[in-house]
Amino acid sequence: MKLKELCSYLDSEVPLSFQESYDNSGLQVGKADTEITSALITLDVTEEVIDEAINSNCNLVVSHHPLIFGGLKKISDTTQVGRIIYKCITHDIAVYSAHTNLDIFENGVSRKMAEKLDLKDIKVLSPLEHKLLKLVTYVPVSHLDKVRDALFNAGAGVIGNYDQCGFVTAGTGSFRGNESANPYTGKKGEMHLENESRFETILFSHLKDKVIRALLETHPYEEVAYDLYELNNKFYGAGLGCTGEFSDAIGEKELLKLISSVFDVKGVRFSKLTGKKIKKVAVCGGSGVSLLPVAISSGADVFITADIKYHNFFDADNKILLVDAGHFETEKFSSEILKDLIMKKFPKFAVRFSETNTNPINYL
Ligand SMILES: [Zn+2]
Repeated sequence: MKLKELCSYLDSEVPLSFQESYDNSGLQVGKADTEITSALITLDVTEEVIDEAINSNCNLVVSHHPLIFGGLKKISDTTQVGRIIYKCITHDIAVYSAHTNLDIFENGVSRKMAEKLDLKDIKVLSPLEHKLLKLVTYVPVSHLDKVRDALFNAGAGVIGNYDQCGFVTAGTGSFRGNESANPYTGKKGEMHLENESRFETILFSHLKDKVIRALLETHPYEEVAYDLYELNNKFYGAGLGCTGEFSDAIGEKELLKLISSVFDVKGVRFSKLTGKKIKKVAVCGGSGVSLLPVAISSGADVFITADIKYHNFFDADNKILLVDAGHFETEKFSSEILKDLIMKKFPKFAVRFSETNTNPINYL
């Protein structure tokens, strides 16, 4: 398989357009036409991980945290990132990362945390906004089915657990072609009236080009009339964080022990115990403390995330139990998501988990 095949699959499956503005997901290092033999999956790309890739004959490293995150002004052995890139190029190793787009992805990092805690009724904590578009087009009645099928096949019309969602109204379209026109029906220079269907549907913004291409390829008119609107609707299928519930409420100390064992955390940090039983849980892998107000208003009894600062613990304000379960620990299962994604499309491709512990934080 060529590197570009895997990249374009991952870019569309975990849409790059879902990533936060500060992020740098996607192909980090590599040549698109390289034949990739096997992939090593990791949370972080360190020199040890690249050495592991070399020793295990993997010429692709797939990570959650991007190798190149901030700006890069030089590639030399004087910086850690420079050394890693240099080594990758020297050994013809490609690096691909799926970061905040994997956080936001519907089966992403936080959902995986919720599944590991065996929570039920898992929902997105902070749904995506400004990622949905409405498409309206006007089609001669004879071509409605063909155009509608093409739009649905290109990914339009998905709402939650439903696909092929659309709406049709009947009407009359009018047009007059000039001397240079080549109208599908009617004569140039004369106004023509045609029985048309107004067809409307919804789509994710990252599918815009694909859906419009499908429209233009199947619509019979020389000039296709269509409107695209940005929607303010939230998309509940993806976003940051998740909530879920335990089948039976458990005590706070029992929960803290569970977190420690499920995520293998050496030092769980937490705010003042609230004295309440824990039924509803909010989670966000990695640095998710900015979602604390959302977690509180969701009615969760606990919010589990990482990178919590001293003053954040005060903000829990006895309304919620706030738990820091470690950045590495809450995100390490991202490797399972990345492996499953690759295996779903390329079941015969060799994928292995890195055995390098990249956690930069140590405990006594
Ligand atoms: Zn992270």
